[in-house]
Amino acid sequence: MVETSGCFDFNKKPLKIWSIWPSMPVPLEVSVYGRCGGGCLYCFANLNRDAAGRRPNYINPIEKLIEKMSRDMGNEYSPIGYFLRNKYPICLSNTTDPFQPIERKYRASLDFLKWAAAMKHPLAIQTKGGILADPEEFERYAPLIQKGKDTVYITITTLDDDLAGRIEPGSPPPSERLKLAEKFAAKGTPVSVGLNPYVAAWTPDKAAYCEALANVGVKGVWFEYLHLSKKQVRVLPEALAPYKAHANLAEDFLAVFPELKEWYLTAREHGLIFYPDMYIDAWMGYVSPFADCHSVDDYGPGARLFTYPGDFTRLVQDVSHDGPAFTGDLEYRPGRKVLIRWSNIEAFLRLSGLENPLFDTSDFWLPYNLKLKADRHAWTHVLGKRARFYDILRYFWNNPDENAQFCWDNPLLQVLEDAARGIWIVDNDKNVQAVYNPDVRFKSPIPEAYDYNRYKKRKHEFIHLE
Ligand code: SF4
Repeated sequence: MVETSGCFDFNKKPLKIWSIWPSMPVPLEVSVYGRCGGGCLYCFANLNRDAAGRRPNYINPIEKLIEKMSRDMGNEYSPIGYFLRNKYPICLSNTTDPFQPIERKYRASLDFLKWAAAMKHPLAIQTKGGILADPEEFERYAPLIQKGKDTVYITITTLDDDLAGRIEPGSPPPSERLKLAEKFAAKGTPVSVGLNPYVAAWTPDKAAYCEALANVGVKGVWFEYLHLSKKQVRVLPEALAPYKAHANLAEDFLAVFPELKEWYLTAREHGLIFYPDMYIDAWMGYVSPFADCHSVDDYGPGARLFTYPGDFTRLVQDVSHDGPAFTGDLEYRPGRKVLIRWSNIEAFLRLSGLENPLFDTSDFWLPYNLKLKADRHAWTHVLGKRARFYDILRYFWNNPDENAQFCWDNPLLQVLEDAARGIWIVDNDKNVQAVYNPDVRFKSPIPEAYDYNRYKKRKHEFIHLE
């Protein structure tokens, strides 16, 4: 493990609604560190910072973070407070490794873990092991990572220690990460392993990989191809040049399906759950028993997960195919097209018991804005400073060109449109409609799904369906 502790800074805004929510079951993310000393060549967090040219921030935010959480919990209009009060788990962290080398000096993640333990707040912890691979450090942190409240996700991109030393120089070797997984599993903490990013050349033997995981008590394997934005590719280190051609997830799903099927079957043979990332999972007909490796049972009494969009689209799929889209061995069962209206979604949310409180809208803007060209003026005009939860979700639904995270992350959902005129066909309440189209499965939809321009129709000129 190479010393990379100099490469770090703190996040100015360490608590936020997770940027890819509402497609994710876990709506909040805490990331105390902004850059990461894990040193992985493909690191999104570091590539993003480099691409944006952001100035480093060395002010430890932990005290302000804890103050903010308690303030938000007392504020009935704060969506962050709502998610905290309702025990939605917090992800620590999807941006940087909370146990990266500099943690030995600042103990910022330790302070956050102490807060979560005292509040009995569930956490979804993500790491490559970091300093926890050191037995002394493990003893320091392990009592704060608790069975029946927290889950642990450990990234293992290869079983080859030498290769990992070259592509992930600041993190413990995979053999040490497996030992760490075993220690957590032995304590009863649910452990998933992230094969993320997946590059076939790094993990050539699927059976050996799954066997290594099963041997240490891991519950399942989360799977995602290497995917980088054009901006990230521009600052990608030279050592990863051979992978640039595969960096945009422009994978042809039909071409990679045999490989996905093999991963699914191999994982199952070894008693592991296969959790493809949400786009792949929807395309594969929801092979994962629960979304994104989060099972509500793992987070203890009273915990909740935001699985509504995935639950709804899975229900639509089941209606289309009169049951799952694939058999247990991934043989396809034909389906019919299904028309979806906002009224169907709203009825589903009500029946599922999702409350409809009044929220300040500003905290939702951050994830919303990630799709770069979102219209802040329209957002403010339609939603104002405060809006009902359902109306915020409805705004996501009606603007898939700006936020592809609410249901639209399912690549089989298409906006109902007059294709010849490039016009959306809205319902009587002027809400966008969608068609679940099982035929798309055979047209390699994923490159389009990542092309956010696919929804760039003249949306303000619409045909009104009587
Ligand atoms: S451990 Fe994670 S956050 Fe840290 S450098 Fe590696 S990929 Fe980035």
